[in-house]
Amino acid sequence: MLKKASRVDKIPRYAFADLDKKKQALKQKGVDLISLSIGDPDMPTPDWVVDELITEARIPANHQYPAYEGSGKFRQSVADYYLRRFGVRVDPSTHVMALIGSKEGISHIIWAFVEDNDVCLVPDPAYPVYNAQTLLAGGIPYKMPLRRENGFLPKFEDIPTDVARRATCMFLNYPNNPTGAVADLRFFEDAVRFGREFGILVCHDAAYVEMTYDGYRAPSILQVDGALEVACEFYSLSKPFNMTGWRIGAAVGCKEAIDALGIIKTNTDSGQFTAVQHAGARALAQEPERFIGHMNDMYKRRRDALVDGLSQAGWKMEKPQGSFYVWAPVPGGANSAEFAEELLEATGVMVVPGPVYGEMGEGYVRMALTVDEQRIREAVERMGRHLKKRQ
Ligand SMILES: *Cc1c(COP(=O)(O)O)cnc(C)c1O
Repeated sequence: MLKKASRVDKIPRYAFADLDKKKQALKQKGVDLISLSIGDPDMPTPDWVVDELITEARIPANHQYPAYEGSGKFRQSVADYYLRRFGVRVDPSTHVMALIGSKEGISHIIWAFVEDNDVCLVPDPAYPVYNAQTLLAGGIPYKMPLRRENGFLPKFEDIPTDVARRATCMFLNYPNNPTGAVADLRFFEDAVRFGREFGILVCHDAAYVEMTYDGYRAPSILQVDGALEVACEFYSLSKPFNMTGWRIGAAVGCKEAIDALGIIKTNTDSGQFTAVQHAGARALAQEPERFIGHMNDMYKRRRDALVDGLSQAGWKMEKPQGSFYVWAPVPGGANSAEFAEELLEATGVMVVPGPVYGEMGEGYVRMALTVDEQRIREAVERMGRHLKKRQ
């Protein structure tokens, strides 16, 4: 018998790895599956980014180990982007670190800030990584409930003082996965004030900061005065540039956090392929607003087709202003997992049961806008027909 570490059993299997298996099995059975489950953009990376990778891949210097903290060119492009987009001035050599996707940075920052019995404040529902890595690091996740009546924002005043004192790290994520909620600068000001009062690193997962609709533009937490003392933002090229497979992102913020993250990372990984970083720099440098605007128009059309179509069929839900997820209350107050299973069996449409993101997700399912408009319309039709029969 092998003696596996107990930490492996402390965390659940990654929900999407299991969903993936289920998807393959259904496809093999010949089901015409429409998967609204994982948030993985269906469109290709823009050509000018792919071309840059090809050029950079031919340069022998790029074949060696990359610079630990990330290439100077990539970090500079991130700093330039923060200045241009948010009016935030950061020093690329001390405030920016290249990541092998933001998931990697989010995981490692927890190892740099959370140890035995430290509290990590995590939203519920949320991207599962904050909770899982806290458990792996021996910390205690304290769930901050995101309620609809509060616009899916946590209430810092509800966190007991003794919990706040034991907390070393907090996670926020706006535009939000899975709820699609957005936060304004006032909220980030409160978060920074809270972090400063209790000496808590405020980590903001900004994976969807560019994915917004109806004229709304999302702020960076680093726009708050004094944020660079307690906040660290995780930026990702995955979603805005259709680059999920490339694994490139950046941590931007508090020097102390970037330095600590660097100590964990240099002892763990050796960075991302320099050619990929340079292609990422090109994506950020080339006034990406047009490309992103084009993508957002597309997601907006899909969002409207889904939400308007289902509303007409009697299933009411709100339109998200950000992210590419629709967070829909289960009709008739049914159980999320049972409803998701029922939809899958009756219609071949795959949605994610809310509890995958935490207990507070019960009563909801998440639908991702990462299939084309025609398929979304097909999904709406099938689900509409099923809902009618069910009433
Ligand atoms: C997709 C996603 C990420 C991971 O992005 P990568 O940069 O591809 O690792 C991080 N946070 C949230 C909330 C996401 O939805």
